[in-house]
Amino acid sequence: MKKKVLILGAGLSGVYLGYKLKQAGFEVQILEARNRVGGRILTNHKSHTKVELGAAWLWKYNEELLKLCRALEISLFPQNMEGDALFEASHNSRIERFRVPKNQEISYRISGGTAHLLKKLTMSFSPEELLLSQKVAQIATCGAFVKVFTEKLTFVGDFVISTIPPQLLVNTVALPSEISQKLLKIANNTHTWMQDSIKFGVVYKTPFWEEKNLSGAGFSSEGAFTEIYDHTDAQKKRFALMGFVNQTLVNATSTHREKEVRKQLFRFFGKDGEDYIAYQEKAWPEDALVHFKNTITLKPHANNGHPIYQEEFLEGKLFFGGSETSKKYGGYMEGAICRGNEIVDHLKNTSK
Ligand SMILES: Cc1cc2nc3c(=O)[nH]c(=O)nc-3n(C[C@H](O)[C@H](O)[C@H](O)COP(=O)(O)OP(=O)(O)OC[C@H]3O[C@@H](n4cnc5c(N)ncnc54)[C@H](O)[C@@H]3O)c2cc1C
Repeated sequence: MKKKVLILGAGLSGVYLGYKLKQAGFEVQILEARNRVGGRILTNHKSHTKVELGAAWLWKYNEELLKLCRALEISLFPQNMEGDALFEASHNSRIERFRVPKNQEISYRISGGTAHLLKKLTMSFSPEELLLSQKVAQIATCGAFVKVFTEKLTFVGDFVISTIPPQLLVNTVALPSEISQKLLKIANNTHTWMQDSIKFGVVYKTPFWEEKNLSGAGFSSEGAFTEIYDHTDAQKKRFALMGFVNQTLVNATSTHREKEVRKQLFRFFGKDGEDYIAYQEKAWPEDALVHFKNTITLKPHANNGHPIYQEEFLEGKLFFGGSETSKKYGGYMEGAICRGNEIVDHLKNTSK
């Protein structure tokens, strides 16, 4: 009989684990709280234009992710940095033009959007294998099995793999009493990458910045956005800029943030900049399925890939996955794949 693996969370880690374990002959069931897959990958559609409000880039040293993209026949294209970039030192200073040095690490984007990767990974799942709107509330032991309670249903499996970011997991899901205080403490002090960021995208009719010999990239120390980049699609048919909103606007309303971003677009690009056809944003600090609100201040990547996450729990029935548990590239998409490979290899070796 096939061994059954319950996977908690359908972000990149969860769907990759499901995809690989299914290929390896396991029965899988992925339980996701939202009514969509992807977690911190969020390719948003507005005015026929896709904008990455979550993960956007990968790099040539992301070997496992690149291998996966090749296997799924997913093509990549380089982030456009041709032309001058802009810099604003303060609100009152003149906007300066500069050339980004050629020796900068090139970042790549996924043709069709990062969500294209998820689409390919989830293609073979049946509705029984990938369950949306199933928020996990408790994990419990049950003899040789493990039980997972969502707010609506109970699931039983031979193994459970959580891909919920560790800090969120230990604060929102009831765990078996066998889980050590040490793990709870480390998880509570594990940084969830980009949980504080607010990303926005603005869609335009034309890539007007190219006519001004600008790359679309801009940086600001004090403005409403701190960074902005060209976000034109691979076919160069849809035009957008995508950026990061200044943390000082975290408590502002979305309408206020848009107003401030618009003013800065005018300062950077003139009338063309403020004449966008659509604005969209995602404030990740407001997302309770990523960000756990508390008073702990953590350094970026704190405790990512901690050795305790590499252990197995409940006598080999419970594993901690998810990008933040990866020894390599914790917090990034590459980390999700690296950690997924480790868990899959382990289960394949021990369940023969
Ligand atoms: C704004 C932003 C920009 C980023 N940019 C990049 C980039 O350019 N390059 C890069 O490599 N990485 C980037 N990242 C990081 C990248 O998105 C993550 O590394 C990756 O998506 C993590 O996947 P994951 O599946 O491990 O976690 P997540 O995507 O967080 O998935 C966890 C899943 O668990 C679900 N969940 C939570 N609680 C429960 C519950 N109780 N029950 C059931 N399900 C639950 C969530 O809804 C979510 O779907 C970025 C992230 C953000 C937010």
